[in-house]
Amino acid sequence: MDTAATVQVSGMTHVYVSDAQANPALENIGLTIRPGEFVSLLGPSGCGKTTLLSIIAGLIRPTRGQVLINGREIVSPTSRVGYMLQQDYLFPWRTIYGNAVIGLELLGRLNKETGAYVDHLLEEMGLAAFRDYRPAQLSGGMRQRVALVRTLAAKPELLLLDEPFSALDYQTKLQLEDLVVQTLRSRGKTALLVTHDITEAIAMSDRIILLEPHPGRIRREIAVPEHIRRTLPVEAREKPGFHELFHEIWQEFERMGGKEAET
Ligand code: ADP
Ligand code: MG
Repeated sequence: MDTAATVQVSGMTHVYVSDAQANPALENIGLTIRPGEFVSLLGPSGCGKTTLLSIIAGLIRPTRGQVLINGREIVSPTSRVGYMLQQDYLFPWRTIYGNAVIGLELLGRLNKETGAYVDHLLEEMGLAAFRDYRPAQLSGGMRQRVALVRTLAAKPELLLLDEPFSALDYQTKLQLEDLVVQTLRSRGKTALLVTHDITEAIAMSDRIILLEPHPGRIRREIAVPEHIRRTLPVEAREKPGFHELFHEIWQEFERMGGKEAET
């Protein structure tokens, strides 16, 4: 099993400042993620999910607060953290293999051994036959699988996933949810998924952190029941208690909508 990260976010506040105004995006966020845990950040658009992920990835310096990964502060991007986005950002002129190894290349770590690991990942994701194809020859779901291989290639301790399924059709999205959970679980990776999709959050994660907007704050934490957690996302949707939990979170969303209407 690979190394997994403990993530500690404390006193995290972020204000976007421009000439005309200050936009408080996050206010006093604190959270801890255990090694191997899969946590979802769930909330409506604009509640600061992407901002929080960008800070954890070291892409934005927060106004206040800090992020520790295995006790070390994150102040700039690092290969210890893998980041997967809604868009796959594959280079059209490179082959699938060429795209999958690009992170390793940039780190100066592409060699026989790491290259073979990438081929192993491509095989595991059902992409071995497409190794020498170009991205344009692949479907959206396959391209996201390539993006997943690229993210895993440098063996990050933590995976950050920012709505990686939201541009896919429903069936492809469900298949990829299963594949991601299976892949991360078998390696014991720590993962933080951003989504506005309640069903996806319940089906994929061990724990859900519900954020509210304006400014982004933690509203509630929800532990997903053990019997739902144990199964893969597609099957999880059929488990007793799933719909009740969906309904409970849905109502919380409705109340947040009310909060927004007041302001
Ligand atoms: P989410 O991912 O939950 O939709 P974001 O983190 O993208 O939320 O945005 C949180 C808030 O910060 C929103 O009000 C958004 O308009 C604002 N925001 C995001 N990025 C910037 C930026 N680069 N400059 C100014 N404001 C921003
Ligand atoms: Mg976002």
